[in-house]
Amino acid sequence: MAEFPKARDFFESSRAAVGDHELRRKLENASARHLDHFAEVKAEFPAYDDERDAAHRIKTDAIAHLDELLIELTSKLEARGCKVFFAQDAADARDYIVELAKRRGAKTVVKGKSMTTEEIELNGALERAGIDAVETDLGEYIVQLRGERPSHIITPAIHLSKEDIGQLFTDKFGIEYTAEPEKLTAEARSRLRAIFLNADFGVTGVNFAIAETGTLVIVENEGNGRLSSTMPETFVAVMGIEKVIARLEDLSHFLEILARTATGQKLTTYTSFITGPRREGELDGPGEMHVVILDNGRSSMIADPVLREALNCIRCGACLNVCPIYRRIGGHAYRSVYPGPIGSIISPNLFGSAAGYLPFASTLCGACKDICPVKIDIPRILLHLRWKESTGEHPIRWPRAIERARRGARRFAKMARHPRTVRALGNFAAMVLKPFAHNGYLRRMPGPFGNWTKYRDFPRPRPHKRSAPAPERPPS
Ligand code: SF4
Repeated sequence: MAEFPKARDFFESSRAAVGDHELRRKLENASARHLDHFAEVKAEFPAYDDERDAAHRIKTDAIAHLDELLIELTSKLEARGCKVFFAQDAADARDYIVELAKRRGAKTVVKGKSMTTEEIELNGALERAGIDAVETDLGEYIVQLRGERPSHIITPAIHLSKEDIGQLFTDKFGIEYTAEPEKLTAEARSRLRAIFLNADFGVTGVNFAIAETGTLVIVENEGNGRLSSTMPETFVAVMGIEKVIARLEDLSHFLEILARTATGQKLTTYTSFITGPRREGELDGPGEMHVVILDNGRSSMIADPVLREALNCIRCGACLNVCPIYRRIGGHAYRSVYPGPIGSIISPNLFGSAAGYLPFASTLCGACKDICPVKIDIPRILLHLRWKESTGEHPIRWPRAIERARRGARRFAKMARHPRTVRALGNFAAMVLKPFAHNGYLRRMPGPFGNWTKYRDFPRPRPHKRSAPAPERPPS
């Protein structure tokens, strides 16, 4: 598996992304569109907040009883002829799927949208084994054609305009240029249909796994998840351990909120319920079905009482749409398959301390917490991870300038414990800087403070005034 990029790489990629005005325009347009649709469907559904409460409660309960639920799910799936494989890490999951594909003589693997297979870098492993892996979700298909990774967990090609995609199709397929979404979609559809008809192996993710009934649920809009799971003779579903919920009746709460926050729809076009391979007498479905259940650092998140809440995530992507950082730098700058606020929490736990800088990529404004359909307190968890970093639990190699700034902040924190020193220094700064101020503000500051005034003015320090003695209390 590729090494996780360093903090310095993140600073470089985010600086480049902020300077890319075209990218920012696309991100702002797409995020605003998402949020408008969400506001509309939320307004016509008064029970939305009650459903959020229910979803939070159900997920928290499921994570607390994960071991029992996974045992129940496994026994139900096996009873219906599925093979269940528990993968400790990404390599385990990858090897299992690649070996299986080789044993079945697979030439082409069709993939439904799955962030978990992105996490384990399945496509690269299949390609190395000489097997074609074709993404069949339109957005994923587009980014795969460009040799990129998704830049959003719901809208993989959010960083591209329809003109970009038109040009891509002309370059790749030699067709006449068009930027009409209907024509572009029809082109992708006809190419993918042909691939589906010949594919011998299908892989998809899983949105929910119901322990009570042993049912896997896939929620999508294009029908490619359904085709990937039913047309090939061998089908593999890949899920993180946290996807399990206890009861079938729990599902309705998630279906009410997931589509609304993810895509601004009341319900997605396809909701597939998969209960095993084709049975005797049935015409459709795969002859063989495997379920790969992935841990890859999730158990260690459960062990941390603050962090475990992040496993409630249903990957709706809404926290990315409202995040002021994501909206300025986009998904690729994070260098993680999971970008945005929730990605900044889960990436260090899935990819190790190399990604430990990501919890610092947040203003802690709280917009993510407000929109999250399962009410995850994202800012609190980010602060918790920052605290863990400060205790030396996950040391990070910061770029030199950041390390200097952090040392300065630590010194300031020490000094701020002595009010007299702070007052004396404040008075001194007020006196020295007074001649340089215009209308009460400094336009340029010396040394490292210059980074502040590069972008905004700084209010002139005022001399400390002794506070007036507290007024005497009136007699009671
Ligand atoms: S943290 Fe919440 S808002 Fe963000 S992707 Fe997960 S469920 Fe959606």
